[in-house]
Amino acid sequence: MPRTADVAVIGDGVVGASIAYHLAAAGARVALLGREGGLRDSATHRSAGQVRMHHSDPHDARLAALGLETFRNWPEIVGGDCGFRQTGFAFLVGEEHVGELSRTVAELKGLGVETTVLTPEELADEQPALDLDGVAAVAYEPYSGHADPVRTVRALTERARALGTEVLTGPGGARLLKNGERYTGAAVGGDVVSAGHVVIAAGAGSAPLCTEAGVALGGPGEDGTPPVHSQEVGWALARTSAIPGAASLCMVIDDLAGTYFRPDGPDRVLFRIPLGSGPPSGNTEISPDSSEVAAGRALAAPRLRGLATAEVTTAARAAEAYTADGRALIGPSTRHPGLYFATGFNGGGFKAAPAVGLAVAAELLSEAVRPELEPYRPDRFTAGQPAPTVRRYRNM
Ligand SMILES: Cc1cc2nc3c(=O)[nH]c(=O)nc-3n(C[C@H](O)[C@H](O)[C@H](O)COP(=O)(O)OP(=O)(O)OC[C@H]3O[C@@H](n4cnc5c(N)ncnc54)[C@H](O)[C@@H]3O)c2cc1C
Repeated sequence: MPRTADVAVIGDGVVGASIAYHLAAAGARVALLGREGGLRDSATHRSAGQVRMHHSDPHDARLAALGLETFRNWPEIVGGDCGFRQTGFAFLVGEEHVGELSRTVAELKGLGVETTVLTPEELADEQPALDLDGVAAVAYEPYSGHADPVRTVRALTERARALGTEVLTGPGGARLLKNGERYTGAAVGGDVVSAGHVVIAAGAGSAPLCTEAGVALGGPGEDGTPPVHSQEVGWALARTSAIPGAASLCMVIDDLAGTYFRPDGPDRVLFRIPLGSGPPSGNTEISPDSSEVAAGRALAAPRLRGLATAEVTTAARAAEAYTADGRALIGPSTRHPGLYFATGFNGGGFKAAPAVGLAVAAELLSEAVRPELEPYRPDRFTAGQPAPTVRRYRNM
C-alpha cells in the first residue's frame, strides 16, 4: 500500500526507535520500518543495557552524558518504563592510565555528570565482592546503572506509535527506493513509503541493505562510502549465591582485564564474553558450558570473588555494527541524496540512543547542525583516511 512520510526510518532497534520517537514528538510524519522477527536477534535485544558515562572516546562519553537524565526520568520524559536500575558504576584502571582517568572525570563533571576519582581502598570498603589487586585508580559514578533494553525499545516504539508513527515490518526487512540520483523512500512487505528523508538505522543489517541499493556501506568503499562491518559480542549470567556482598555490587568495567560485569536482578550477575572477529554465527544463544563462556569467566573471576565457581545459567550474543574507526556513523550522506546514516553503533550504542534520537530529529527537521554529532559524520572517511580514533584506555 502506498504511503507518504516526512521521514522513513529503517531499523527498529533502540537507535531507530529513538529517532522515530523524537521525530514524532516534534510533529513529523514518520514510518518506522523493521524486519519481521528481526528485533529478537538485534544488538538491542541482547544488549547489557549499561548506562555509564565514562568512555575511552570523549565524544561517546558526551553522548552518554546527554542521555543519562532520560534514562533516570524515563516515565516523565518518554513515558512507559525502561527498567532503569541505579547501581553505581566503577571504571578500574592501572597505573599507566591514572592521568587519562582524571581527565575524563574532569570533562564529565564539566558536562554536569556526578563522578569522582576513588582510590582502590575507598572502593573496596563499599564493594566487598571485588578484588582490586593491581588497580591504581577508580572513576566512580553514583547515578549510573542499567536499563532493560527490550522494555526501552518497546517504550520508544509505543510512544512513537501513539504520536502517529506507522510501524511497518515485513519478511526480509525493507529495501531502499530511488528516483534518479535521490533515495525517495523504502518498501517493506506489501507497503511502499515515499519520504523526504530515509534514515539508515538497521544496525548490522545496514551494510547489506545499502549494498543491495548500490551504496557500498559494507563493501570496500570504492565510491567513497565508508565500510561498516559486523562483529558479535556476548555476555553470560551466573548465580550470585557464591559471591560475597553481591547484593550491593555496582556495575564494573575493568580496563586492566578487558571485562565488565554488573548485577542482574537480586540473584544473578552478568559478565562479558569475548568473541572472535569472524563472520556472525547467526545464532544468538551460547552454551553455558562453552569455551567462550569459560574465557569470559577467566577474565572476570580474578576481580569478582566467587565467580570462578558460580553456576552459569544463560549466555547470549548478537552482532553489532562497526565502522573502520569504531565510531558510529551519523549524518546525511554527502554522496547519496535523501539518505541519512545512523548506524555503526557498538559498545556504547544503547546508552547513546536518547541523545542521538533527539539530535538526529533536530537535524532532519530544521537542518540544524548539532555539535555533539560532528565527530560522527560519514564524510570523515571520504578522503580515504579514517579519522584518528581517540582511545584513552587499554581495552575498554
Ligand atoms: C551483548 C551486547 C552487549 C551490549 N552492551 C551494551 C551496554 O552495556 N551499553 C551500551 O550502551 N551498549 C551496549 N551494547 C551495544 C548496543 O546494544 C548497540 O550499540 C545498540 O543496541 C545498537 O542499536 P541499533 O538500533 O543501531 O541496532 P540493532 O539493535 O541491531 O537494531 C537494528 C534493527 O534493524 C533491523 N533491520 C536490519 N535490517 C533491516 C532491514 N533491511 N529493514 C528493516 N529493518 C532491518 C534489525 O532486525 C534490528 O531490529 C551491547 C551490545 C551487545 C550485542
